[in-house]
Amino acid sequence: MKTLIALGGNAIQRKGEEGSVENQWKNIRKAVSIISEAIKNNSLVITHGNGPQVGYIAAALQESNLGNIVTLDIADAMTQGWIGYMLQHCFHSLNKNAITIPTRVAVLKNDPAFSRPTKFVGKYYSKEEAEVLSKTFGWVFKQDPRGGYRRVVPSPMPIDILEIDIIKKLLEEKYIVIAVGGGGIPVVKENGKYSPVEAVIDKDLASSLLARKINADRFIILTDVNGVALNYGKENEEWIEKIRVKELRELYNKKMFPEGSMGPKVLSAIKFVESTRKYAVIGNLDDAVNVIEGNSGTMVIP
Ligand code: ADP
Ligand code: MG
Repeated sequence: MKTLIALGGNAIQRKGEEGSVENQWKNIRKAVSIISEAIKNNSLVITHGNGPQVGYIAAALQESNLGNIVTLDIADAMTQGWIGYMLQHCFHSLNKNAITIPTRVAVLKNDPAFSRPTKFVGKYYSKEEAEVLSKTFGWVFKQDPRGGYRRVVPSPMPIDILEIDIIKKLLEEKYIVIAVGGGGIPVVKENGKYSPVEAVIDKDLASSLLARKINADRFIILTDVNGVALNYGKENEEWIEKIRVKELRELYNKKMFPEGSMGPKVLSAIKFVESTRKYAVIGNLDDAVNVIEGNSGTMVIP
């Protein structure tokens, strides 16, 4: 049984909690411990988000007056090292061999996302702060529905995973592989050569692509809500327990799920189930054991 688990931001930093190193270790240790319990000795690939962290790094280094020493692709790579290392370390503490692969993910140069940044990164600013940063660094800001102003960056569609062969080999060698962190380091192919590009790929969409490429038996997305709801946050809110992929595709096409949060998770699950005819689950990290077993969350079936 081969499982791919995509970890949401709450595996690293909880909403409303200070993002201290102690809290990061506490959250990551807890996530790794529940996942280990659920997976036992089965084959496992872990992916993770980087929305807050990639923005922290880019902002800290660009505001540091050190000169132009970091671009978004480098910041993406740094978050793979940061979070990958912490996950790897926590698995090792449980006597499990885990390895982090800095992963490049190909996107299309002419992806419309490059002229329409949507992905929120980094911290929250006031309107005035946002205006200053926008003038100084040319960053684009948007009001985050969760409050305040945040930088937005392009989030192009992942189309290929450059380190796929080594990921497969390490899985065969029984390693837990941590890959496509933060959606991967974006690169574009031109005249047969890859070059880096500034973007932050959606981690759920990159995870779905990786799950298909490794022939995963199940694709699990762990986040901070109990699954997918219809009319989320409204009076007539209704949580979905199990749904056929065809039906979910229809709801997705009707734009029932917001961009940048539940939308890409739903699309990622759909793409995996449509192409593999296996199942995907979107559920709560705090109930991971049941979610992985398919007894909690929203299960998407062929
Ligand atoms: P992650 O860090 O795990 O990727 P996101 O914040 O990107 O988490 O997405 C999860 C969030 O999606 C939830 O906290 C919830 O507020 C929001 N959300 C939006 N629409 C829905 C929906 N229809 N059903 C469930 N959650 C939804
Ligand atoms: Mg997300």
